[in-house]
Parts: sequence; structure tokens; C-alpha cells
Amino acid sequence: MMRLPKFEYRTPRTIAEAVKIIGDTGPTAQFVAGGTDLYPNMKRRQQTPRTVISVMRLADLNQITGDGDSGLRIGAAVTLTDICEHPIINRDYPVIARAARTISTPILRNMGTIGGNLLLDTRCNYYDQNYEWRKGINFCLKKDGDVCWVAPGSSKCWAVQSSDLVPVMVAIGARFRLASTLGERVVDAAGFYNDDGIDYLKKRPEELLIDIQLPPAKGWRASYQKLRRRGAFDFPVLGVAACVHLDEAAAKKAGSEVTVKAATIVLGGIAPSPIEVTESAQALIGKPMNEDQIAAAAEAAYVKARPLDNTDFVYSWRKQMARQYTLRALNDLRRRA
Ligand SMILES: Cc1cc2nc3c(=O)[nH]c(=O)nc-3n(C[C@H](O)[C@H](O)[C@H](O)COP(=O)(O)OP(=O)(O)OC[C@H]3O[C@@H](n4cnc5c(N)ncnc54)[C@H](O)[C@@H]3O)c2cc1C
Ligand code: SF4
Repeated sequence: MMRLPKFEYRTPRTIAEAVKIIGDTGPTAQFVAGGTDLYPNMKRRQQTPRTVISVMRLADLNQITGDGDSGLRIGAAVTLTDICEHPIINRDYPVIARAARTISTPILRNMGTIGGNLLLDTRCNYYDQNYEWRKGINFCLKKDGDVCWVAPGSSKCWAVQSSDLVPVMVAIGARFRLASTLGERVVDAAGFYNDDGIDYLKKRPEELLIDIQLPPAKGWRASYQKLRRRGAFDFPVLGVAACVHLDEAAAKKAGSEVTVKAATIVLGGIAPSPIEVTESAQALIGKPMNEDQIAAAAEAAYVKARPLDNTDFVYSWRKQMARQYTLRALNDLRRRA
């Protein structure tokens, strides 16, 4: 049985208290929300904080405010179950509720939070193993070793960004509010993730994620399609998020076909960061959303996808699936247009 190492557990009641604790403790401390990612990692000795600071009693992080007209603010400690069931999220941001429903299992969704999901550790077959297994291969670059077993000549870790909500947040233009003892800042989800399996976030370790800010829901629609082995639960080994803004008003005025005003296609689960496929967007923008444009956008996603051999399924097949899942996402949007 894998046991947790010894650690001190802190339960601050205010954001100021939480950021002070981590500011005073330094790099040996880490925040925890539901713990569904951090605690298994601690059991496997992949992450070994000596102080663990719970964010679950911070009132600001437990609220959902606003709606599709004004934009929605979701506290980082809101559980995935609450996201799945929230009436305004289901009405105005259904793509988020649908993507959240594909994450792990009902029990884990009762514990796991949206913030923890967006800050999830990157994953790799050579890393998501117990300590003895990893010791048996002399560890790897990401933790305790000096070689990457996926790309031995590489000085970079290729562990995969494996959150279902990350590609969705990037595609719809969400923003994240962070706090530390130096104050607050708000950053775009796009650009928040580094293409590096070790240093995967543009967030300082002592920064607390307070909330996720969604843009108003009018004028766009989005779809998320997830590839995984088991339908019941599994991490994504490819996730395609597509968001399109349609020029419905102009089409109505001119009595012409509706064209795409803006589009964002994002691939998750195939690289250390979500991959935005601008070529797919270019294939759609300024044109009607018909079969030819959708096929061209899906082809661009196939060309851009370069999965490595470090998660489930044969990587060349996952590359093929980037085309198919982009087709699915865009056809889903077309049907709803
Ligand atoms: C069996 C299993 C299956 C899973 N399947 C999926 C899946 O299909 N899709 C998927 O996306 N995920 C999956 N997960 C991963 C995980 O359950 C979810 O991503 C969950 O949302 C993580 O949230 P949490 O609150 O438990 O995170 P935690 O474990 O509490 O934290 C995760 C990370 O975020 C940091 N953190 C958390 N909150 C904050 C904050 N407010 N500010 C700063 N740092 C913070 C922690 O320090 C830690 O580094 C699975 C996990 C398991 C064990
Ligand atoms: S990609 Fe390489 S360095 Fe990163 S976790 Fe996998 S084996 Fe380790």
C-alpha cells in the first residue's frame, strides 16, 4: 500500500492568510484543493511538500457569480460536481458542464475542483508510476533522474497536459485571477501553459488561483470532444475544443449564408501545453461553415498534432484521431448553428 509522507496541514480562512502562509513557508509548501491529483502524487513521491495548505475554506474560491450576459466568475475551489450541476453553467456555458462530466468518476468529481483541474500536473507513462517502479528505470528528467525515456536525446520533458477543461478554457477565452503577497493579477488562459512537462505553468509556485473568469456567452458556441480508452473514466489522450463566433446578424441583414467571424481550435492531451491550431481557424474564418471548410480545418489539426509515445494508444493513431475529433467538434457546432 502506498502511504502519504508526513506533512503539516494548514486551513486558512482568508486569501490574505493563505498567501501569507505560503509566502512565509516558501517552496516546501503547496496548495491543495480536492487533493485528487496532489495526494496520489505525494504517495508516489512525485511531489513532496512538507506543508500542504487547503484552499477549500476560502469563501471567495467557493462562489459562482454572474451569468451569460455579464460573464461568469467561477471560484477555483468549486467542485466538478457543482460545475456539472450548476443551472447557469448548463444554460449559458454548456460546453463546460459537458467537459466536466467527462472528468474521472462521480466520487472524484465530488472532491476534485475546477482550479485543481486547470493546474493539474502533466502526465507520462514513465512518470505516473510508484516510487519503486520509477527507481527501477533510474527515474527520469521530470523527477529525480537525468534522462527522458520518451525522447532520450531531449533536454526537455514531454509529459502531457491532460486536463479536460484546459483546452475548453483556452478556446473560449477564459481568464484566471491569481493572488500572492505581491497582489493580484489576471492572465489569459491562452498563454498560461508552457510547452514544457516540468515547468508547465506560467504561475509562480506561491500564487493562489482565485477564480476563472468567463466572457459573456452571447455570439459564440463551443464543443469539446474527448478521446479515451474507457468511456466510464479515463484521462484524455486527445481532447479537441472548438469555439466559433458566427456572423448571424450580418447574414440576416444581407439575407445570405451565415459565415464564421472568429474561431479557435485547441488540441489537448497530446503535448505539454494545449495546442492552438490557428491554421484550422483560418480555414473557417470569413466562410460559411460547410463540409469543405470543416474538412480543411480538420486536416490542419491533423497536420499540427504531434503526439508522442508516452500515453495510452499508438501515437500515430492519436494523430489520425486529431482529424476525426476536430470533424466531430465542428460538425457538432454546425448542427447547432
Ligand atoms: C483515477 C483518476 C482519474 C482522473 N481522470 C481525469 C480526467 O479524465 N480528466 C481530467 O482532467 N482529470 C482527471 N483526473 C485528475 C483530477 O481528479 C482532476 O483534474 C481534478 O479536477 C483535480 O482537482 P483537485 O481539486 O483534486 O486538485 P488537487 O489535487 O487538489 O490540486 C492539483 C494541483 O493544483 C494545485 N492547486 C489546486 N488548487 C489550487 C489553487 N486554488 N491555487 C493554486 N494551486 C492550486 C495543487 O497544488 C496541485 O498542484 C483524474 C484523477 C484520478 C485520480
Ligand atoms: S516525457 Fe520524459 S522526462 Fe517527461 S515524464 Fe516522460 S520520461 Fe520523464
